[in-house]
Amino acid sequence: MYDIIVIGGGPAGLTAALYALRADKKVLIIEKNAFGGQMTNSPKIENFPGYSEISGIDLADKMLESVLEKGAEVELDEVLSVTSDGAVKKVKTTYSEYESKAVIIANGVKHRTLGLEHEDELTGRGVYYCAVCDGGYMRGLDVILIGGGNSALQEAVLLSDICKSVKIVQNLSDFTGEAKLASAVRSKPNVSAVFDSVCEKLILNDGKFAGVEIKNTKTGEHTELFADGMFVAIGLLPDNKRFADVATLDKYGYFDTDESCIASQGVFVAGDCRSKRIRQIVTAAGDGASAALAACSYIDSL
Ligand SMILES: Cc1cc2nc3c(=O)[nH]c(=O)nc-3n(C[C@H](O)[C@H](O)[C@H](O)COP(=O)(O)OP(=O)(O)OC[C@H]3O[C@@H](n4cnc5c(N)ncnc54)[C@H](O)[C@@H]3O)c2cc1C
Repeated sequence: MYDIIVIGGGPAGLTAALYALRADKKVLIIEKNAFGGQMTNSPKIENFPGYSEISGIDLADKMLESVLEKGAEVELDEVLSVTSDGAVKKVKTTYSEYESKAVIIANGVKHRTLGLEHEDELTGRGVYYCAVCDGGYMRGLDVILIGGGNSALQEAVLLSDICKSVKIVQNLSDFTGEAKLASAVRSKPNVSAVFDSVCEKLILNDGKFAGVEIKNTKTGEHTELFADGMFVAIGLLPDNKRFADVATLDKYGYFDTDESCIASQGVFVAGDCRSKRIRQIVTAAGDGASAALAACSYIDSL
């Protein structure tokens, strides 16, 4: 019987584990893929306090090291479900089943991708999914931005301040984000938009990102757009349905909690998986601390 099982070994889960271990709790972290989570896809992180620059993999290693040093147990396995049997939580994985007094779900989100050839290998090297995280690498350069909803428009405003030009490619006939944001984007002299167009192919030059080939969905016409980098802002994909019995979801599929991170009795959520405005490493880590401290109080009160 563990005190706390943490689902997901990203910055939210690892920080939660760190706080719980420092409160003398017996902690198991279950990670299905790579400890460190999404940041392991980032070659350079420049907004984590204490490091002017660090690779995502190095930061992930440091976070993992610090919980292992303090006695965390870890398993590489996928959690399939969590059930609550009063004070005992049952965590079923692909290979096993575990019990704990409390569970912290920190399973993150995925960025929707275009699914194009070469997209994976160029991620972090010309193809990006987060302007707040990676916009700085495109300072003074020309970028393409795919998407036209609220997050894409926010990213366009941010990129317009740091990039030479931003060309938005939207599959519909107009932006679908808030009118106020759309008009802010239209007022930027270095932002232009191509509507009714989908991205069909990535253009490479010497193995490096060089642009995209787009197709007008009304006329069928193909056009090549050249740029130094591309941001894909077509949404995030939470994967929370399997936990819906123990944590309520909002209409977008995120866990419907505030920064208290409390989902139900003995179940806590942390990081990108919950409903929030800013999804970053530091905000995920902040949630990890809140969730762990709430879980420790819950356990101590049992
Ligand atoms: C390419 C890229 C670059 C980024 N750069 C930056 C940056 O420079 N600065 C910054 O602040 N933020 C950056 N971000 C965003 C940042 O990485 C996320 O906000 C942060 O990782 C969220 O942390 P998390 O712990 O909530 O989730 P995640 O990092 O997504 O971690 C969740 C973990 O849970 C695991 N998991 C999911 N489901 C299960 C399951 N059922 N069973 C077991 N394990 C499971 C996943 O494999 C994953 O490892 C970047 C994101 C990307 C994709």
